[in-house]
Amino acid sequence: MIVGAGAAGLAAGIFCARLRPDLRITILDGAQKIGAKILVSGGGRCNVTNVRVIAEDFWGGSRNTIRRVLRAFTEKQTVEFFHEIGVSLHEEQWGKLFPDSNSAKTVLNALLSEAGRLGVTIMPGHRVVDIQHCEVFEIQIDVPRTGSKTLTTGCVVLATGGRSLPKSGSDGLGFQLAQSLGHSLVEQTPGLVPLELDDTFHGELSGIAHEVELTIKTAHENPVRISGPMLWTHFGVSGPAVLDASRHWHRAKLLNQEVTFTANFLPGSDFVTAEARLLDLTKNESNTLVRNALAALIPNRLAEMLCREVEIPGRMTMGQLDRDRRRRLVHVLIEREFRIRGSRGYNYAEVTAGGVPLDEIDPSTMASRKCPGLFLVGEILDVDGRIGGFNFQWAWSSAHVTASGIARFFS
Ligand SMILES: Cc1cc2nc3c(=O)[nH]c(=O)nc-3n(C[C@H](O)[C@H](O)[C@H](O)COP(=O)(O)OP(=O)(O)OC[C@H]3O[C@@H](n4cnc5c(N)ncnc54)[C@H](O)[C@@H]3O)c2cc1C
Repeated sequence: MIVGAGAAGLAAGIFCARLRPDLRITILDGAQKIGAKILVSGGGRCNVTNVRVIAEDFWGGSRNTIRRVLRAFTEKQTVEFFHEIGVSLHEEQWGKLFPDSNSAKTVLNALLSEAGRLGVTIMPGHRVVDIQHCEVFEIQIDVPRTGSKTLTTGCVVLATGGRSLPKSGSDGLGFQLAQSLGHSLVEQTPGLVPLELDDTFHGELSGIAHEVELTIKTAHENPVRISGPMLWTHFGVSGPAVLDASRHWHRAKLLNQEVTFTANFLPGSDFVTAEARLLDLTKNESNTLVRNALAALIPNRLAEMLCREVEIPGRMTMGQLDRDRRRRLVHVLIEREFRIRGSRGYNYAEVTAGGVPLDEIDPSTMASRKCPGLFLVGEILDVDGRIGGFNFQWAWSSAHVTASGIARFFS
């Protein structure tokens, strides 16, 4: 019995049915419509995986464990699997792989039809509210209009996801189920989530996207640096670099650590090289207004805002820029601090950081080390990937390992 028919649950059902056609496999899901999260993923196009997936693309539990699971079912095997079920993929920027149809629906339909072909039963509208284990599992289910019912089974796969996008059905109840079966939990925070700023700065820049290097610093760990596009919004900042950085900000806050979050608007430049670039502009464009000259390096409106911030008058030319102002400008260009008020939370988060600790599962089978007959897959575990198809790859890989674990369990 699999609880949760998201990416991990559907894949676990399919892989398990392929390995052990003799087993009766049922997937229960609380949502009335299966696959809501797959459908909205990748902007409705579903970034299925990436051309290169390594353990370092993930955070959370032990990288060795993550590596073992990824190696057991690689990104190449994912591409082959989807090809087999009729979904060919193509590569886009940053190695992201999308279906050729550019529609997440193709991915969901292929998974559902493969599950159907293999005789996997999927039961939507079946929300599991309690699981008791004593030799066998007793699963208590809430079914709208019908009331509650109890099913008995020898093996349970928890594929209930995390807390991100709760309206899709992944509301965190799965964590309670895991806990009631003997697991501990690494506290959860949103990941891959836009951040809200305290400044007023962002409002005027809303809609502008450009490259940045973000640095998240705490007193306790090495700084984390993330480069990529950032998008200014009416509430703060978003875009791939910010989404990747958000989990680090959340984890630091969770641990009550002082955290500074800065943006380098000239990625790859340090103080010396950034100042050299400004001196070049002074030499070659001495009659150009500072804000216009800066627009060669960063978006126009951002250039205006930064000039205002360091009190460079609108009519000042590069030739008139004194050393003190130039240095203040370099400072805000390469180390502009963001005062973060919070994040947009689980309703906007693509993933959940934290969950069931990896050292409580056997990475060769995804079997629980706490409860015999229990398996855990996908986002419920303490693993979160960066943006780019990595979280789905974790779902596919962990599902494949689970299937072999279940086959072994019943042998
Ligand atoms: C907006 C958005 C875009 C994303 N885009 C991408 C992308 O392009 N590429 C990528 O790699 N990742 C992406 N992700 C992340 C990816 O969707 C998740 O990592 C992945 O779906 C996790 O799969 P899962 O099966 O573990 O959990 P989920 O997909 O969350 O599935 C869990 C399922 O369990 C069910 N469930 C939960 N509790 C119960 C219960 N008590 N009883 C019964 N059923 C229950 C839920 O209804 C749900 O169907 C995106 C996420 C979001 C929110």
